[in-house]
Amino acid sequence: MAKIWNPEAECMSREEMHKLQSERLCSKIKEIYENVPYYRAKMDEKGVSPADIRSVDDLSLLPFTSKQDLREAYPYGLFARPLKDIVEIHATSGTTGKQVIAGYTKNDIALWGEVMARVLTAAGGDETSVVQSSYGYGLFTGGLGAHYGAQTMGAMAIPTSSGNTERQIRLMKDLGTTILCCTPSYATFIGETIRDMGLDISEFKLKAGVFGAEPWTVEMKRELEKLLNIKTIDVYGLTEIIGPGVGFSCEKECGIHISEDHFIPEIIDPETGENLPDGTLGELVFTCVTKEGLPMMRYRTRDITSITHEPCECGRTLVRMGKIQGRSDDMLIIRGVNVFPSQVESALLDITDVAPYYMLVVDREGTRDTLEVQVEMSPEFFSDEVRQLEKLEKEIYEKLKSALGLATKVKLVAPKSIARSEGKAVRVIDKRKK
Ligand code: ADP
Ligand code: ZN
Repeated sequence: MAKIWNPEAECMSREEMHKLQSERLCSKIKEIYENVPYYRAKMDEKGVSPADIRSVDDLSLLPFTSKQDLREAYPYGLFARPLKDIVEIHATSGTTGKQVIAGYTKNDIALWGEVMARVLTAAGGDETSVVQSSYGYGLFTGGLGAHYGAQTMGAMAIPTSSGNTERQIRLMKDLGTTILCCTPSYATFIGETIRDMGLDISEFKLKAGVFGAEPWTVEMKRELEKLLNIKTIDVYGLTEIIGPGVGFSCEKECGIHISEDHFIPEIIDPETGENLPDGTLGELVFTCVTKEGLPMMRYRTRDITSITHEPCECGRTLVRMGKIQGRSDDMLIIRGVNVFPSQVESALLDITDVAPYYMLVVDREGTRDTLEVQVEMSPEFFSDEVRQLEKLEKEIYEKLKSALGLATKVKLVAPKSIARSEGKAVRVIDKRKK
């Protein structure tokens, strides 16, 4: 069985966790109330004072925060420590609008290293590992997050960042990288490039991939494990909370453990804001109980998932969430049907003759929404024979129709015609938004 970085934190009893979270929550709320006027005003408005928060069971008394609050308070308004204590700044990649700024104290950076060390250890890492961080470095949290985790674990970090793919593949081979950290879409591109360079993956020392920062399906996981001849785990996080390392999947592949001793999760009904029971899909909300620079209070992630407190066979007692289906704002509504790009990915990767590259093009003809799914043929399949193409197109059409409950237009495109991503993939073009 893979090792556990911090068994005391990752395997404590539910009672101990309840106690720890309660203590941390009470003191953090008191601190925030005293130090952050923006939060104090929000709590006063809701008629809740720090004295009302006696345990983690009182969490739901607190007001929510959202990206909107971070924008209103831009850049420093939600920081809970003076700027002299902030040692590093990051920002969201701005996938869905204006950037959001996050500040870290020295202790926050150490905390980040700790939670990322949990992730890398779950991937089989230890001080002998060679960890290549091929997430982007810079304001984006991916690169440095993996980097701090590797160093905390005592491993060797190779900060290649993303891009320059052939060069990084050469380094990966020459330096004997054992753990690759990047987005799953970049991992796909790295795998493809290794093949194009005529290199044999069995001559690499690669053992594990720590992939995340964007949604990916179980089918994509299988695809990548085959392509790169590795085991993979899923790492989840967001800049507002700390970056990558908020949660990670273990070798049992049964969800994403959340480092809830630091980030307390809740699932709420996105319409009413009510808490939802274990197993029910809803919006994921986090409260940071140890972060100093930017301790978010009931932050609405807009990520849709469910959680369970059932113990996991890996030995960790940390609460688990299901795979993120996508953000609520990634959801497409096409002729009244809700579609997540991840549903399309699952269906497509079940078909042998397609490559893991696809694009959804949404448009409107008159008053009718249309969805065109562009799919790359695998290089092995690529064929000039019209009959074969039609057969594959029909197979994809049927598969998507039953997976989505929606008729789509399927367009097979030549290998390498869909843009490759070095970070988070863009998989949707919505022409209705013009
Ligand atoms: P931005 O909001 O600009 O993309 P971030 O880089 O902080 O900024 O992105 C965080 C978001 O990325 C999460 O809220 C979630 O939607 C997505 N994400 C991160 N990790 C995963 C993962 N493992 N699976 C699915 N989605 C993820
Ligand atoms: Zn587990």
